[in-house]
Amino acid sequence: MPLFDVYQLLPVTPVRAEGRFIWDEQDNRYLDLYGGHAVISIGHSHPHYIKRIEQQLRQIAFYSNSVVNPLQEELAEKLGSISGYADYQLFLCNSGAEANENALKLASFVTGRKRVIAFRQSFHGRTSGAVAVTDNPAIQAPFNQQHDVSFVPLNDREALQQAMDQEVAAVIVEGIQGVGGIRLPDDGFLQHVATICERYGAMLILDEVQSGYGRTGRFFAHQYAGIRPHLITMAKGMGNGFPIGGVLIHPDIQPRKGMLGTTFGGGYLACAAALAVLEIMEQENLIGHAAQLGEWLMQQLSQIPEIENLRGRGLMIGLDPKPDFAGLRKHLLQRHRIFTGEAKPHTIRLLPPLNLQQEEAELFLQALWQSLDEIRKETSAVSFHEKQKS
Ligand code: PLP
Repeated sequence: MPLFDVYQLLPVTPVRAEGRFIWDEQDNRYLDLYGGHAVISIGHSHPHYIKRIEQQLRQIAFYSNSVVNPLQEELAEKLGSISGYADYQLFLCNSGAEANENALKLASFVTGRKRVIAFRQSFHGRTSGAVAVTDNPAIQAPFNQQHDVSFVPLNDREALQQAMDQEVAAVIVEGIQGVGGIRLPDDGFLQHVATICERYGAMLILDEVQSGYGRTGRFFAHQYAGIRPHLITMAKGMGNGFPIGGVLIHPDIQPRKGMLGTTFGGGYLACAAALAVLEIMEQENLIGHAAQLGEWLMQQLSQIPEIENLRGRGLMIGLDPKPDFAGLRKHLLQRHRIFTGEAKPHTIRLLPPLNLQQEEAELFLQALWQSLDEIRKETSAVSFHEKQKS
């Protein structure tokens, strides 16, 4: 049976991984600055992570949400204290899209309304509501286009004001737009969105699926703006590859039985993985490290003339090579065995494990300078040949 062919594949087959490195079938080593799409937060195959999941597997791997699961309570306690949201409530699920789906549903339950405001270049997932608030018609089927959604440009106060009224259930915004190319909402804009939501009785949903879990040097990216949203969604870094997602829910939002639910969400193995991630983040001070190393890396990158529009926070960095160097990402992978992320058309996204070491970042910078040099030589050789032919 063939696989349903929906992914653009890189020409690499990883077979093992450790720390910030991945090895392929021929035992070639790759530096991972992509983290499997911002998922690897504590590094690959961390011994504490493996031990915690292994132990849990031997004790009890799964039961349904119809019984008390002390690991869920332990996770809620730890997540609350590390994130600064101890007074919020936690709903556990399995992915980023599912977290957003549940947040949208809750906002609609609470307000009794159904219209949602989202932002241009947003990405919130591929399920029904999540894809409807994603600004990409190419991935919305007619079935998904029935939702009542208005898109406004990011950081545009006037457009937001025009789209807002008493019918709006929620405004959904990413802490930093990831798939859209590492685009930052201004801190002042986020504060404005929070105020407008309060004024109109709408829920503010902060999608921290990619920008959360310490990636930006704060637990959540929106914490730079000092706001407290009604709903905060998370997933990627939460389980370091073990599928888990969650929604943090404002204390004023009252639950009722059956309001939300899931079979797999909050399972024992997922909770063990998520607890191991938080324990390691704390023990290794990964949030502070991401802030510091990210700042250093941005400083180094800012000195490269072939790079434009450098932006980001912590270890969530976007950069655009100048048009002559558009093939930089491919070059880094094929010649220097370095994985990076992309955003269309040529943005390079850096989303490494949060315990990336300075010498590994230096390895990347060296490769980057070399790649730019190699691309320059290749292009001038091609244009020399073209001139000779004509
Ligand atoms: N929200 C954001 C900001 C994302 O970047 C993504 C995935 O890239 C999602 C939601 C969807 O997450 P998942 O693929 O786990 O459903």
